[in-house]
Amino acid sequence: MKYTEIMVRYGELSTKGKNRKLFISQLAQNVKRVLSDFPAVKIHADRDRMHLLLNGEDSVQIMPKLEKVFGIQNFSPSVRVEKTMPAIREMVQSIIQSAYQPGQTFKITSKRSDHDFELDSNELNRELGGAVFEVFPEIAVQMKKPDINIRVEIRKEGAYLSYETLRGAGGLPVGTSGRGMLMLSGGIDSPVAGYLSMKRGVEVEAVHFASPPYTSEQALQKAKDLAAKIAPYAGSIQFIEVPFTEIQEEIKRVVPEGYLMTVTRRMMLRLTDTIRELRKGLVIINGESLGQVASQTLQSMVAINEVTTTPIIRPVVSMDKGEIIEIAEKIDTFELAIQPFEDCCTIFAPPQPKTRPKLDKAQAYEARLDIEGLIARSIAGLKVSEITELSEKNEEFSDLL
Ligand code: ATP
Ligand code: MG
Repeated sequence: MKYTEIMVRYGELSTKGKNRKLFISQLAQNVKRVLSDFPAVKIHADRDRMHLLLNGEDSVQIMPKLEKVFGIQNFSPSVRVEKTMPAIREMVQSIIQSAYQPGQTFKITSKRSDHDFELDSNELNRELGGAVFEVFPEIAVQMKKPDINIRVEIRKEGAYLSYETLRGAGGLPVGTSGRGMLMLSGGIDSPVAGYLSMKRGVEVEAVHFASPPYTSEQALQKAKDLAAKIAPYAGSIQFIEVPFTEIQEEIKRVVPEGYLMTVTRRMMLRLTDTIRELRKGLVIINGESLGQVASQTLQSMVAINEVTTTPIIRPVVSMDKGEIIEIAEKIDTFELAIQPFEDCCTIFAPPQPKTRPKLDKAQAYEARLDIEGLIARSIAGLKVSEITELSEKNEEFSDLL
């Protein structure tokens, strides 16, 4: 079926009162961005629906992209035909011929927003039902949950027919909740935390700590590849690489083993908060899950979180590992995340970090560090890049270089 339009239904948007206009225009902007490879597509965003006029672009390529845009409840590809009964009948018959499997039921749901049209919606239902029986006399009508629901909408510009509805990603349009800094490691949890906060409308920038030569080029690339996996939900992601080698060496030199992890985390959080201010973010997001490892006990959170009053969002804090993995598999970050490249924490991690660190001790050991100087030097070496979806085109291109 050659579709000419896609009708998009909004999700939670509809409950947003005054912000509604803002949400709809952000959604339209996000849709436009993910469809930038399809320049002929025209977007019309109304109060209740968004219509994408395909103008010859291929719906088969466009639909998987739409499935990743937050703020969309569902969408239906449709065909536009001339607003005459013979043309509509013919299209209904061709739809049923391609959709029908023996034993299935159907119904016609007509809607007439152009009241000048010759038939009303009841008459349309009857007439077009008849057209279906002409093709498959044995087919049964079912009003509640039919297998095939052919929707017909008579509008000023033409008649629109659709029968498929695809589920959207739900959530809120990315950008409508403001900006947050995602602490992105190379693990399973933080990409999931990033995805979940994007789902609630947060525009995410990824902050990644790298400690070369202790951490490898592959470990850095892995974090970038993970960012690329969640980038399609936003169009693109800013990736901020933070030099962390000097800080780790200094901590290792002056802090006793039991507090290496706590002090390291405090420094990471301070840096992330400084970057957040520079980048005009509102919150910090991380992939901590309660009780998963020593740094993720409540006592650790108390001792680490103390360096900032900035809200820290922990989308996976109450999830079991299995639940997090389920999402990681859904968003295709799991396979990448389990590749064994050492990250900065694993290399400097003591065999037995304290699971109940004391805040006053952490502060006392930390006083041995030149915190301001260390942070200033790290910030001076930030590397920001824009990450978009991994595309085969790019990979081929880099082979040629
Ligand atoms: P993940 O699977 O996200 O790596 P984890 O269960 O391995 O999490 P930790 O390694 O203790 O837990 O890290 C806890 C959180 O700290 C991570 O989810 C991430 O948000 C942040 N984090 C850890 N290492 C880094 C890093 N190298 N760069 C940026 N953030 C990091
Ligand atoms: Mg980790």
